[in-house]
Amino acid sequence: MSGVNDIRSTFLDYFKKNGHEIVPSSPLVPRNDPTLMFTNAGMVQFKNVFTGLEKRPYATATTSQKCVRAGGKHNDLDNVGYTARHLTFFEMLGNFSFGDYFKENAIELAWKLVTEGFGLPKHRLLVTVYSEDEEAAALWKKIAGFSDDKIIRIPTSDNFWQMGDTGPCGPCSEIFIDQGENVWGGPPGSPEEDGDRFLEFWNLVFMQFEQTEPGVRNPLPRPSIDTGMGLERMACILQGVQSVFDTDLFRMLTGTIEDAVGVKAEGSASHRVIADHLRSSAFLIADGVLPSNEGRGYVLRRIMRRAMRHAQLLGAKEPLMYKLLPTLVQEMGRAYPELVRAEALISETLKLEENRFRKTLERGLSLLSDATADLSKGDMLDGETAFKLYDTYGFPLDLTQDALRAREIGVDISGFTDAMERQKAEARSHWAGSGEKATETVWFELKEKHGATEFLGYDTETAEGVVQ
Ligand code: ATP
Ligand code: MG
Ligand code: MG
Ligand code: MG
Repeated sequence: MSGVNDIRSTFLDYFKKNGHEIVPSSPLVPRNDPTLMFTNAGMVQFKNVFTGLEKRPYATATTSQKCVRAGGKHNDLDNVGYTARHLTFFEMLGNFSFGDYFKENAIELAWKLVTEGFGLPKHRLLVTVYSEDEEAAALWKKIAGFSDDKIIRIPTSDNFWQMGDTGPCGPCSEIFIDQGENVWGGPPGSPEEDGDRFLEFWNLVFMQFEQTEPGVRNPLPRPSIDTGMGLERMACILQGVQSVFDTDLFRMLTGTIEDAVGVKAEGSASHRVIADHLRSSAFLIADGVLPSNEGRGYVLRRIMRRAMRHAQLLGAKEPLMYKLLPTLVQEMGRAYPELVRAEALISETLKLEENRFRKTLERGLSLLSDATADLSKGDMLDGETAFKLYDTYGFPLDLTQDALRAREIGVDISGFTDAMERQKAEARSHWAGSGEKATETVWFELKEKHGATEFLGYDTETAEGVVQ
């Protein structure tokens, strides 16, 4: 009962039995929403339903939603491999009420599923509520029988959800599990909360206000519910392990990496990063994103290249990512047939990008190690070198930062930006007076076709892709 496929169906079947419509996951690239890089929560496909702009033939729904948090407002890229709970790609299980049931039912439904459906021991559970939401605190007392010390009141925006500067908003309540005294970390709201002892696994959002302008909130006539539970985190809990990377699927993936490179996965951030980044890359490609030098494609490229650097660290002598793909497709293809349909494309794309980046990766890394040979903890790599790595060797800025992280060396970002600006100005001066517009168009077309590394290093759009 504790594999991801079982957890997913337990969740969806439970809410179906309770009258919810099972709605398929929407794609990772949000439809008609240029403001959002990737789908990063279950509620994304229902935004217009919550605001009343769109009607659906059901008032309650449940989903298992593919999510990527690797850009924009929610960016967990830098967490992956370094915390026990963050992935760039994960599945969010959710139940939604569009003006149907509200707070009391939402808490009741969640509590019953957690304790009866998944059988988690009550004494290890605790919740946070928004500090002004006495109603939620009282309901948790009544429904779960929690004493005050199991209901943590949080005054920050962590427990107050907003769709945007205006629109629906409301307090939220998160469910945590205590993973035991031998694990480091303090309860939510404490200075040690970033440890792994207390694991957040479910967030219940009570949409009860509409914000019309900053600071002005009116009660919604028909409040709504939006929840999100991390599938991989639930797997971690049910499998009795303390990290999402120790769950069965990730063990299979890191095991395949072990076999390919002959380096043990135990305690290795590189194995974890590669396994995670393979999943986000594969799912993004399946949803139509291809590596490029701008926008979503550049985020994908950054994810892939970061993974490749870690493969290089493990001593991989040939493309590695595509070799892990069959394991992923076998484990997740039934739930996500788009992965099966796109398998050949994903495989080719991974191989192509790895082969394309390999040479410059090696040369860039040796340049980086020369440039930092005399640096030590707390020092900064100069912006010129970071820009050269980016421009000539195809190193996204965050890859360089990631490479120096273990040595606690930073990168001079403003120096990097200056170097980029200088190069842009130079390129512009070359174009001036020579039918600039036409040249620019042709240049962008060529760059699109070939990618910047082969064609030319400098790229306007990339600046936005890097500094998010
Ligand atoms: P955290 O505080 O751990 O970063 P969050 O509060 O940002 O999580 P929410 O936005 O509340 O997360 O998302 C709802 C649920 O989705 C979380 O309770 C968690 O179970 C899951 N989740 C969120 N981010 C990730 C991630 N990067 N990897 C895996 N699961 C995640
Ligand atoms: Mg987060
Ligand atoms: Mg949180
Ligand atoms: Mg949360």
